[in-house]
Amino acid sequence: MTLSAAALAGFSIESSLSGPIAGHAERELRGHLARIPASGAAGVIRLSAATGPADAFTVTASPGEVHIAGANPRGALNGAYWLLEQVGFAWLAPGSDGACFTPGRQLPFGIHQQTPAFARRTLILGSDALHDGWRAWLQFANRNRLNDIFFHDTPPSRLGRAGAVRPPTYDEIAADGRGWMFERWDADGAAIRSAAAENGMTIQFGGHHLPSLLPRELFAGHPDWFPLRDGERNARFNLCTSSEGAISALRDAARTFFLRFAGADVYHLWADDIRGGGWCECAGCAGLSPSEQALRATNILAEVLAGVAPGASVAHLAYHDTIEPPAAVQPAPNVVALYAPRPRSYAFPIDDPACPRNAIGHWQPFLGLGKTFGNASRVHVFEYYSDAILYRWLAPLNLHVLPADLRSYARAGVTTIEDLAVTPRPWPGPVWHAWWFARAAWDPEADPALALRSFCESAFGTDAAAFEHVYLAMEDGYRLLLDLGELQQIPRHDILDFSSTPREALAAKAVQMEAALDRFHDAARSIPLAPAGMGLATRDELAIVISYATHLASRVIAWDAALAGNHARARVALADAWTALRATEDWCHRHLTPAYANLAANMLRAARYHTGTIEALVV
Ligand SMILES: [Zn+2]
Repeated sequence: MTLSAAALAGFSIESSLSGPIAGHAERELRGHLARIPASGAAGVIRLSAATGPADAFTVTASPGEVHIAGANPRGALNGAYWLLEQVGFAWLAPGSDGACFTPGRQLPFGIHQQTPAFARRTLILGSDALHDGWRAWLQFANRNRLNDIFFHDTPPSRLGRAGAVRPPTYDEIAADGRGWMFERWDADGAAIRSAAAENGMTIQFGGHHLPSLLPRELFAGHPDWFPLRDGERNARFNLCTSSEGAISALRDAARTFFLRFAGADVYHLWADDIRGGGWCECAGCAGLSPSEQALRATNILAEVLAGVAPGASVAHLAYHDTIEPPAAVQPAPNVVALYAPRPRSYAFPIDDPACPRNAIGHWQPFLGLGKTFGNASRVHVFEYYSDAILYRWLAPLNLHVLPADLRSYARAGVTTIEDLAVTPRPWPGPVWHAWWFARAAWDPEADPALALRSFCESAFGTDAAAFEHVYLAMEDGYRLLLDLGELQQIPRHDILDFSSTPREALAAKAVQMEAALDRFHDAARSIPLAPAGMGLATRDELAIVISYATHLASRVIAWDAALAGNHARARVALADAWTALRATEDWCHRHLTPAYANLAANMLRAARYHTGTIEALVV
């Protein structure tokens, strides 16, 4: 025996809960079920909650009654969304366009218990355009049972703009080149705190802002506050954590920062985003590794935070030159580690022995951090599944890698799992990567094939099977494209710029790219011409994805052919690369609003630059 949405639409709602989350849960149930014509006998949906720490729930369904019992109020809200999902609702993109209903789905009678695999499940909004849409993204995250929202900024915002307003045009924002999150928070911070409270969500805030707490203009008067490098004090990057003056100035600036951006559970004031050479070699610092100097700075921030916001934490970022666990410095009690394995390979799970880059280069440092911080629950995992900077305009499905990663993180004892969303362009249509992250963060044992089928049915109705084929072809293409093999990263280049070192690795990469192109072109040929549901928007999404995948693959094939002396072949591949890049640029001209300019302008310029350097190899 089962219950349908139509049956539930005829039920009344009774709640023994009080407070903002309870009211929100009731409104969400009523609002969704009101869209469905009621049928069948009357009944009741009861909401109740205990006061536990976890946001688990039990839904008991019987004839005429559904009881949603949350382990806490947020658990009851999760139960409400889970119930709606079982009977056909899905939230596949932010905003009303992303809310879908699939008729015919049923909730079986019985007791359904659900406990999330991770206590804190975070969507990171990492750029201005996402911050502009924070209300819709927060709602999307909440409905998909994420319980934490992180305001992060790439490129970093600027402190001390003194009331400046974000410029209105694409060109002006591109020329400024910085983020505008601080101004967004000044305007909307109170509304963000209030919405998060009503949705039972916590907040995180910050980014690479440690250096800006110590303005570089101070160097003229206080060179000793800044790092010693090659025998001279140098104002570039970070600070000298042995300097009493620097520590005192850092304390004052941190207090101002925490008060201005009040309300977060976890703060992020990370060091400069560089791969090395950013720290100090003075007598007091020389014996400390970059990780240890960074942690020393973070401990200073933590001491200030403990006075300003007891209960809040500040993160020590393990990333690039700070990926190795600190040993000589111990974290203060309110410091958590933030593990950010950006250079890893997304063609393999994070601990896959078949991929030494991951298993040795990233999983081992992660295990080390757990030891330094006492246990893995103090190591927050910052993952990149929705990062369209790392993925260069693309949007990999990570159909198998994502849940495999999350199973490993959960087994290791991680309790905070985070997904960075950051993008130089809008994502038309359903946002698979963020939706899939939310599914797997709740249950990493979720079946990828079933999840994809359910997603396609919700998004595309009668064209579900065709889009399922498209997505599966792209998943195959992405796994080939994202495999980094033995390729070394070129300094100051990004991961998917690839490299020609070692030479034979580039040759192997070119072969893989040929195979990836086949899969992407199969996907392109399989897209329905006049699709149902969200299919038209998805055609738009796939246009840039397939254009850019074609560009990237053709560029690598041309590079290899040029170095092999096969210039005829290189010229053909280069022509394809330029054509596909122009298609990407055309897409951007049609779709980009000014909010994307501080990311998009540089990324488009870089793509032309990289293609030009390969063209220069061809005679
Ligand atoms: Zn120093």
